[in-house]
Amino acid sequence: TFTTRASAQPLENADELIDSVETFIFDCDGVVWKGDKLIDGVPETLDMLRSKGKRLVFVTNNSTKSRKQYGKKFETLGLKVSEEEIFASSFAAAAYLKSINFPKDKKVYVIGEDGISKELELAGFQYLGGPDDGGKKIELKPGFLMEHDKDVGAVVVGFDRYFNYYKVQYGTLCVRENPGCLFIATNRDAVTHLTDAQEWAGGGSMVGAICGSTQREPLVVGKPSTFMMDYLANKFGILKSQICMVGDRLDTDILFGQNGGCKTLLVLSGVTSLSMLQSPNNSIQPDFYTNKISDFLSLKAA
Ligand code: PLP
Ligand code: CA
Repeated sequence: TFTTRASAQPLENADELIDSVETFIFDCDGVVWKGDKLIDGVPETLDMLRSKGKRLVFVTNNSTKSRKQYGKKFETLGLKVSEEEIFASSFAAAAYLKSINFPKDKKVYVIGEDGISKELELAGFQYLGGPDDGGKKIELKPGFLMEHDKDVGAVVVGFDRYFNYYKVQYGTLCVRENPGCLFIATNRDAVTHLTDAQEWAGGGSMVGAICGSTQREPLVVGKPSTFMMDYLANKFGILKSQICMVGDRLDTDILFGQNGGCKTLLVLSGVTSLSMLQSPNNSIQPDFYTNKISDFLSLKAA
């Protein structure tokens, strides 16, 4: 037997939803901002929720920045959000390694941009790789082999605009030649919206390369996996039924909320349109949907 979820309802009474939870988890891109532009009405909405005593948490699958760098971004956009309220998939990778007591004398090989290495460093882990690794064509001669550091005990893969074949081979060697080596993905987003002009290959493409060569599946720490939800619930001592997850994407944000047993709200200010939500090809139905989070300020009971 299986249960089908009722179709998402348009949000009509925001106060009822707000009163029913103590924490809001907001996805970032498509909910708070779009690229470098703040979405309409966000500061006022966050202020209103804080004045009602709600806990606000911000979760992003974008691993290219550290939580400190995101803190600056929030500040630049005029939002009063502290680093401790921000959970990026870069931070999640370091938090996961901490949670399993990953040995400090082992190293992490990073395929990804700065955010991941910055978080690993803050957490006190040794790492190598990062955006600048490799990049030149690998010249082959008979007998040539690539050396790799045998102390690598984990490979972390995230979105990387400097991705190259050297990184694939290095990460593959680490994983393949040491069956105990962890393979961690910050996220597996198929596409991402680097600009609004088209859909770009997302972090899932870099992760997929390593899956293809190692024939191993990664442990995902970003949305929709439950790691961050468990981490947050644990850290703040909150019941998941007291959380509303707000996101613009069905296969990451809404699934993340549903996997965690939270209430879910889809906003149409990002990558999902009403017709995508209502398409017969879509099976992921949030509890509610609305245009943007500032609708919280106007959607009152009749
Ligand atoms: N990964 C990358 C590289 C991105 O650029 C983005 C959005 O800008 C995301 C993931 C998704 O971010 P979020 O989870 O905040 O929507
Ligand atoms: Ca998003």
